[in-house]
Amino acid sequence: MVMKGKKGVILGIANKKSIAYGIAKACREQGAEVAITFLNERFEKKLEPVATELGCGEKFYPCDVSRPEEIKALKESLEKDFGEIDFIVHSIAFAPKEGLSGRFMDITKDAFNVAMDISVYSLIEIVRELHPIMSNKSSVLTLSYYGGVKYIPNYNLMGIAKSALEMTTKYLAEDLGKDGIRVNAISAGPIKTLAAAGIGDFGFMLKWNSAHSPLKENVTIEQVGNSGMYLLSDLSSGVTGEVHYVDAGFNIMGMPAVNFDETGHGKIAWNGE
Ligand code: NAP
Repeated sequence: MVMKGKKGVILGIANKKSIAYGIAKACREQGAEVAITFLNERFEKKLEPVATELGCGEKFYPCDVSRPEEIKALKESLEKDFGEIDFIVHSIAFAPKEGLSGRFMDITKDAFNVAMDISVYSLIEIVRELHPIMSNKSSVLTLSYYGGVKYIPNYNLMGIAKSALEMTTKYLAEDLGKDGIRVNAISAGPIKTLAAAGIGDFGFMLKWNSAHSPLKENVTIEQVGNSGMYLLSDLSSGVTGEVHYVDAGFNIMGMPAVNFDETGHGKIAWNGE
């Protein structure tokens, strides 16, 4: 039970397909006490059974990260119910649909600002507000994607946000290291979730990733959950400022494997349609 005695808050569970749900499950299985948040009343109703299943009890709080007053209220609730906390999971992203397909240079300033606010600035604000109640053996985890490092079709605006999020992870790690607080990111391979459904041609992304990753598969929320739990636990006490890939190895590939026929013609080893 590597998380026994640990208490923390997980933001970003929309349903049982969410990556944050996979992380919450893994943390609970290893003995952690977990609080979760919901965006608004509509999601409160939908998430109630999930909060019950995860054994959150009363520790089920509203938090729309675009509202600073809700982040402040979250801190008050956590302090009242837990005293100190040992981990935070930030598994939140949003970009207006117009920013997730089409011509990159048509992105509007409004869409840009919304995506950066909710997907990046929220991490800084959450960590700053919750800092006074974080123990000196705390761990913060956020979720990124390879589209923040390399071009990925349609990922457009979210690619810029993930790039900023990965650097935010490193700057926060330096800021908070002296307080015994670690900050890391997982760069997960594509997984079919609510947020992913907004990305143009996501089905193709899934096929391409499984065909061209060394493990020849797509990752699951259980796999990301277990890696996330490791980064939140003391097992990773020497790790901070890292972006840890959980993507079946896709990111290491410089070129897709090619099969050559007897005439010397190459064919990409690709089993998608
Ligand atoms: P998800 O289940 O849809 O989770 C996204 C979460 O963000 C939802 O719970 C959503 O809440 C929340 N959110 C959006 N705006 C918010 C706001 N203003 N305040 C509070 N919460 C807000 O999708 P997911 O795929 O698990 O995404 C989690 C994270 O993993 C994201 O950062 C995503 O970019 C990242 N990621 C995903 C993949 C993938 O392929 N799925 C790969 C790599 C990284 P509501 O649903 O209630 O709006």
